[in-house]
Amino acid sequence: MIPSVLPTYNRAALKFVKGEGSWMVEADGRRFLDMGAGIAVNVLGHAHPALVSALTEQAGKLWHVSNLYQIPQQQALADKLVETTFADTVFFTNSGTESCELAVKMARKYWYDKGQPERTDIVTFNGSFHGRSSAGIAAAGSEKMVKGFAPLLPGFVHLDWGDHDALHAAITERTAAILIEPIQGEGGIRPLPDQCLKGLRALCDQTGTLLILDEVQCGMGRTGRLFAHEWAGVTPDIMMVAKGIGGGFPLGAVLATEDAASGMTAGTHGSTYGGNPLACAVGMAVMEIVADPAFLEGVRARAGALRQKLEGLVAAHPDVFESVRGTGLMLGLKCKPSNLDVVAAGYAQQLITVPAGDNVIRLLPPLNLSEEEIAEAIDRLDRAATALEVKTA
Ligand SMILES: *Cc1c(COP(=O)(O)O)cnc(C)c1O
Repeated sequence: MIPSVLPTYNRAALKFVKGEGSWMVEADGRRFLDMGAGIAVNVLGHAHPALVSALTEQAGKLWHVSNLYQIPQQQALADKLVETTFADTVFFTNSGTESCELAVKMARKYWYDKGQPERTDIVTFNGSFHGRSSAGIAAAGSEKMVKGFAPLLPGFVHLDWGDHDALHAAITERTAAILIEPIQGEGGIRPLPDQCLKGLRALCDQTGTLLILDEVQCGMGRTGRLFAHEWAGVTPDIMMVAKGIGGGFPLGAVLATEDAASGMTAGTHGSTYGGNPLACAVGMAVMEIVADPAFLEGVRARAGALRQKLEGLVAAHPDVFESVRGTGLMLGLKCKPSNLDVVAAGYAQQLITVPAGDNVIRLLPPLNLSEEEIAEAIDRLDRAATALEVKTA
């Protein structure tokens, strides 16, 4: 008999009932150190007082109002995002995959309105992840995600990550945009070198192609800058955001330049929930903390400490870990045994990590975790690795 919850997830036998900062409490009372943060969502950990008060205060006033009306909380959050990023304008969604839908629509509408309606192709990269909607799975194109769901949304050209010649050849008079994650998350924490992002920007400038960055996972302070592309010193035309922006409340956004967004006039797009007062009140509380340069400096310091300790861990357990990769607090450990076994060994030490592609486990902790919690995470990973060594010896 089919379970009452559609069985599309492989769930661990863990039931969390409470969260406090970087910790989660299981139904049996055990406390787990959360180095996954709901896959880069809980950027300020669990039950952060500023977020709880923003949510509860707004909840007592007005939860939802249609986008048929002015929404001051949405306006304020859009202003804040415009002020702190490359963007001139923002559309709010509820998830990453909805942000993907709009990014694709926006790029195609741009060329349609410019009198080049044949420019519809979106160039994307193997190993990427852009969500589970029709545009998201067609964009990523992986066999695992698309099998059985044909006909797929057409107009995506898939390239291998790092194949320079194929990239140049793929940009034609039919290309609308290039869509890429500055750091592949699901694909296994694979950062795009700054030089490559600069090169992509230059290629887009030469050919008029729009550059869409998917910063759903790597954005919102995760790398120690508000958005990951800032490290390369270039800006996109369109950017997808979600995960961390709501700090755990469902919220996403598409940010764009005035030019890139020029096709999106009244009536061309919409969302019932997108940008509602509750979500935007929480989003604003997140932005006020995370966009603060002093906070981001703290993220970079904590990231440096964590990375250094992880390098030591890899050196101490060469049969379990191969290498550390990533930027800021978006780190991956490439594993030798199955990454799923390493994640499970972490659970046994009451430590949460997240598996990714390429046999990697991801560390995506709350951005405000403490030095002691970093040390504790390393201790627990060390014990997990030792347990795996004992098992295979
Ligand atoms: C998680 C993720 C998405 C999809 O976000 P949802 O909120 O699950 O729809 C898209 N792109 C990237 C890079 C992601 O990590």
